[in-house]
Amino acid sequence: MNDFTFAAAATACRDILEALTDAGVEPSIEYLAGGCAAIAIELSNGSAILISDNDARLPLTDGPRAPWLALCYPAWDGYPGEDEPATVYPLGDRPTDGDDTAAMLAEVIAYISTLAHFTAQWGRLRRHRLISPPGRSRQRRISAQQESRTPIMNSFDSLTVRALASAEQRRDDTAEPATWRDPHWAERAEASATALAQVLGVARDHVAVTADRTRAYGAWPWPALTVNGSTHEFTAAFNDPKQLMILAPCPDCRQQVPQIRLRHLADLGDVIGGFRPDEPVHEFRADPGHRPDCPHATTESD
Ligand SMILES: [Zn+2]
Repeated sequence: MNDFTFAAAATACRDILEALTDAGVEPSIEYLAGGCAAIAIELSNGSAILISDNDARLPLTDGPRAPWLALCYPAWDGYPGEDEPATVYPLGDRPTDGDDTAAMLAEVIAYISTLAHFTAQWGRLRRHRLISPPGRSRQRRISAQQESRTPIMNSFDSLTVRALASAEQRRDDTAEPATWRDPHWAERAEASATALAQVLGVARDHVAVTADRTRAYGAWPWPALTVNGSTHEFTAAFNDPKQLMILAPCPDCRQQVPQIRLRHLADLGDVIGGFRPDEPVHEFRADPGHRPDCPHATTESD
């Protein structure tokens, strides 16, 4: 985009810039090198939403353009960084024709609103000087500035943000059984997730832990363990990190039930490749995940 000028982009995007300003944020036009340009909204939690079209370009005239794309970069420091952005717009099916500006703005403003409560907390902490504000360098737009990045500061900011969000989520959660509000359960589930990450060779923060309500013994559910970007399901029997298991479809009722102990990545590879042990794990029989009419739904079936 050799003909890019800030003035042309500001004119072509004036309605969007106005709408965002009215929504209480401070949008700016950023030229991102390589012919890419976007409207950037820096949020007080250190992230930034970038709005551009599908080709990462801003329109320079009022003429037809490609549909909008809005992404939220979790650790913005004047350039996208290495973390995967979250898609703010489009959600679901992309509009195929017509002006999607209103739809894009609605999604972006809604996204910012959901952060409002949280960012207000961030602002309070910042005012009390408990934490440092994210870097706010105004001299940027040049890719060579990646050299001046301070990764430790970025990860500290990201960790702070995630910890605050997690604490707020826990305070707001009143569901029973208490699971992750139960220190003993949470400690065991955390150990189970860590053990799973180690066996699978993935980063711990890629493993999500929830309480498996199907396999709950009163207030003591097993943890449901999943890996970001993967459909495989795991558990730790009795919330014991030494009893990791792979859930797989029951050969009779097709429901996801514990079948194979996971001690090595190859155990998962066997399941994916269709190799199953002659005998499933002991917990397979009478697992509450079977359909009631499944022959394995009770221990007395065979
Ligand atoms: Zn079954």
